[in-house]
Amino acid sequence: MKKQITTILLIVLLLGASGCAKAQMGTDELNETIPMSITAPSQEATADLFAMDTWLNLSAYGPQAEAALAAAQDRIMELESLWSVTNADSEIYAVNHSDGAPTLLSGDTAEVLAFALEMAERTGGAMDPTLYPVLTAWGFTTGQYQIPSQKEIDFLLSSTGYEKIKLDGQTVTVPDGMELDLGAVGKGYAADETAAVLRKYGITSALLNFGGNVLTVGAKPDGSPWRIGIRNPFTDEDTLGVMELVDQSIVVSGGYERYFIGEDGVQYWHILDPDTGAPARNGLAQAAIISSDSKVCDALSTAVYVMGLEDAIEYWRSEQGFDMILVTDDQQIYITEGVAEAFTLRDGQANWEVYVIAAEA
Ligand code: ADP
Ligand code: MG
Repeated sequence: MKKQITTILLIVLLLGASGCAKAQMGTDELNETIPMSITAPSQEATADLFAMDTWLNLSAYGPQAEAALAAAQDRIMELESLWSVTNADSEIYAVNHSDGAPTLLSGDTAEVLAFALEMAERTGGAMDPTLYPVLTAWGFTTGQYQIPSQKEIDFLLSSTGYEKIKLDGQTVTVPDGMELDLGAVGKGYAADETAAVLRKYGITSALLNFGGNVLTVGAKPDGSPWRIGIRNPFTDEDTLGVMELVDQSIVVSGGYERYFIGEDGVQYWHILDPDTGAPARNGLAQAAIISSDSKVCDALSTAVYVMGLEDAIEYWRSEQGFDMILVTDDQQIYITEGVAEAFTLRDGQANWEVYVIAAEA
């Protein structure tokens, strides 16, 4: 909010200064400026919390912002407690220790699981919520990183495959030895739920950042679009470009988010190719998905990263309903036509080649 106040002050000062230079400029204009600035929606509330294995920053604007964020945080913690893979009280933990017995789920968990299974199906299994045993073999679930043997991976892959999960209403049956992991969709789903809570409190402007999964509610309080920086996947702190968003979400997946360097000097990361059980290496350094639905963005950022450039373009052309910004390992940017206007390269990044993907091949 500081910025807005400064801007308003600046306007007043400038008007004041010109008033001095031109004596005929009445004070009426000043009187109009000040009450307008006071009626602007200027109540901001922010919250930072650690949940879903990442830091979340929430900012909401409006008279009810404080109360809205308090309710939103309760909702996030509720979902976290249902979906944690490590918390022995969670529903996902119960499912993963059910030894093949049917388990009754809450409405929330049944819904997010149904969504995950649907997206797994629609992405031809590029996004698959059953990779947990393989992720564990690599140490991504514990931090004890290691390169598993091909034999171990092959064995574990036989205990994966979303099509083996039976969800019947709110009852799930996961074959013995298989485990669920909502890591690729949970944050997106939770962001959508958070936005819904805020809207119930009449919030029309908010910025939700779930560890790099961003969801915007409305525009900025001043009516201009939110400007979201997209990182350069090849450097740590560099911003590649800026995406302008109103009432939309952007979710980015990349191999730099969680990784280790193996004894062989190779970098291994937390997004696995369900076909090989190894980190996905299909030519993309980063995949960003933009749509109004954060869970769709989340599922697809993982899926598209796994698919690689050509399959991703084909998928986008056949499915539609979302946009994407893909950065290839050889440092090219591919952007779907729907967001070509809203994306701008940052100063100093003009050397990147940007290709716009058209809906018609
Ligand atoms: P992040 O959670 O780092 O933002 P993603 O949304 O891409 O990134 O989700 C990655 C998480 O999803 C991993 O930490 C793991 O739990 C799980 N995962 C890894 N590979 C896949 C995959 N191919 N399909 C579904 N989930 C995956
Ligand atoms: Mg994801």
